[in-house]
Amino acid sequence: MEMLKRLLMFEVEKCGIRHLVFERLSGYDGLQHGVSLRRQEFGEFDFSSGNPDQLQSNWEKFCQALELDGQSVVQARQVHGAKISVIEKAGQEPGPADGLCTKTAGVPLMMVGADCPLVVVFDPVGQLLGLAHAGWRGTAQQIAKQLVVTMAEKLQGRPERMRAGIGPGICRKCFVVGEDAIKEVMNNLAEAEQLIQLIDDPAATGEKRWHFDLARANQKQLMAAGLAKENIELSGCCTFEMAGEFPSYRRDGKAAGRWALIAGLAK
Ligand SMILES: [Zn+2]
Repeated sequence: MEMLKRLLMFEVEKCGIRHLVFERLSGYDGLQHGVSLRRQEFGEFDFSSGNPDQLQSNWEKFCQALELDGQSVVQARQVHGAKISVIEKAGQEPGPADGLCTKTAGVPLMMVGADCPLVVVFDPVGQLLGLAHAGWRGTAQQIAKQLVVTMAEKLQGRPERMRAGIGPGICRKCFVVGEDAIKEVMNNLAEAEQLIQLIDDPAATGEKRWHFDLARANQKQLMAAGLAKENIELSGCCTFEMAGEFPSYRRDGKAAGRWALIAGLAK
């Protein structure tokens, strides 16, 4: 099997907030972005919706660290679908959508994840930004590809000049899937046999289980949508294994917190 070239995210600390950035995306002045880490000096940094006041205070802190306007954040209402909302202004209600995109500078977009990778797409010439929530359901519905298509059709983006980062998520080794996921992936994704494979159980029971490679599936979708492979960065981070840094639904169950990806076009 072809090996993935892993361009790993690296850690930054600003305004006392530890976070990760994609190496190449961080080289563009027109884009600010970051992936939150769980452990901070002041305690747990969590973006779950259970406590709205804490959620807002955390995104404001994170925005300050990213030099973005915390008052203008638009957060996706994620439903594991494949709908993309185009965001034109601060305060806009995006409706249920697992993809957001914008050409408006100064309006940060935010999504949260527990094991699902979040994808960021940036067109540096058109100054366009998009985010997608790509769990297995969204990935099977080609959310990453839909995001690129929407950015091209509605915002005049050009896939060949777009750059992307596929954020932390549960890795192939840890992600055992059931029949519902196997069926959806096999039915909907090209070359599904490369993405969903029967391999040894991570618990080393000696049995084999079906494992789904979310990062690779999204990488392939972005390439199918017209992005160059060298313009797609992977995080190299598994949320299930990195318990100190990320919440994981598979590991922590319903009580799992959420990490956030916030990105905005610089004003
Ligand atoms: Zn893993």
